[in-house]
Amino acid sequence: MEKRCPICETEGTITKIKMEEDIDIRGEKIHVEYNSFKCSACEEIILESTPENDPLNIAYRKYREIHNMLQPEEIRDIRRKYGITQSELARILGLGGATLSRYENGGLQDKAYDSQLKLISDPRNMLRIVRDNSELFGEKRSNLLISQLKKIAKDEYPLERCMEELFGSDERSVFTGYQVLNIDKILNCILYFCKDGLLKTKINKYLFYADFKHFKEYKLGITGVNYVHLPHGPVPNNYDIYLSTFLKNGYLEIEEIFYPDPNIVGEKYISKEKSMLYTFSDSEILVLSTVKEFFKAFTAKAISDYSHKEKAYQETADQELISYEFAEYLAF
Ligand SMILES: [Zn+2]
Repeated sequence: MEKRCPICETEGTITKIKMEEDIDIRGEKIHVEYNSFKCSACEEIILESTPENDPLNIAYRKYREIHNMLQPEEIRDIRRKYGITQSELARILGLGGATLSRYENGGLQDKAYDSQLKLISDPRNMLRIVRDNSELFGEKRSNLLISQLKKIAKDEYPLERCMEELFGSDERSVFTGYQVLNIDKILNCILYFCKDGLLKTKINKYLFYADFKHFKEYKLGITGVNYVHLPHGPVPNNYDIYLSTFLKNGYLEIEEIFYPDPNIVGEKYISKEKSMLYTFSDSEILVLSTVKEFFKAFTAKAISDYSHKEKAYQETADQELISYEFAEYLAF
């Protein structure tokens, strides 16, 4: 079909051309390629008005990809999954309704809102938020949302759910680092630590140091786990059940390492999924990486010896729960 140039109105002079340019997005040069039209009579370039060929839209999508941010359709999907309106979600986020609508239709979201949206894409977080902010919805609506969210959470996280029911209580005490047991955080700590493979002994010590180090600095643990004094050091209560369940559900795999003399086998745990770091706060991520870095060069024996010198270990008896208050005396 012959097209008429919208600028000079000559017929049959428009051809499709490939364009490329660098667009500045938040101080970053983003290279984009797209189709547009050129008129051979007036030499004008006419942009195609589809989102796939809108350079700014392409640049935004690319920018989000680079920065691991949600795309507009993902934002919309989160909202639809929960069956809430734009204005309800906007209220939760403390945003204007127009702003959220812009995000869902291609506007580039602020980094802070992006993090919040990722957080609530997990129905368990959304559930907590709705529970804590029922006044935003009114009693009837919030009760309905809560029961829907419970169902969604159960469907999406059957494993974590049933483990929390088995081991968890809502109790926060000096033995849980004043946190409620959070299986999702335990899993993501382990996925983070085992990215390149880690021996079981080291996983347990890394968890201990992460929780206690965070408590030392911020008066709060990370995972809500109880730690027990066992002969080989402080270890998370039920650690063998966590590890075997994560293994069975495909989050981890084991690589066997043979030590020829005296003929023993070590088991290295390797993550099969990426750790969802947005599960954690900034201070938690900082502590996780500090612990990983600090013990990187330690052998399993060295880290075990190191933990035996902790007051948390020396001043507790076999099988005894370890109070997070010992964190104060942590060696690093
Ligand atoms: Zn023209």
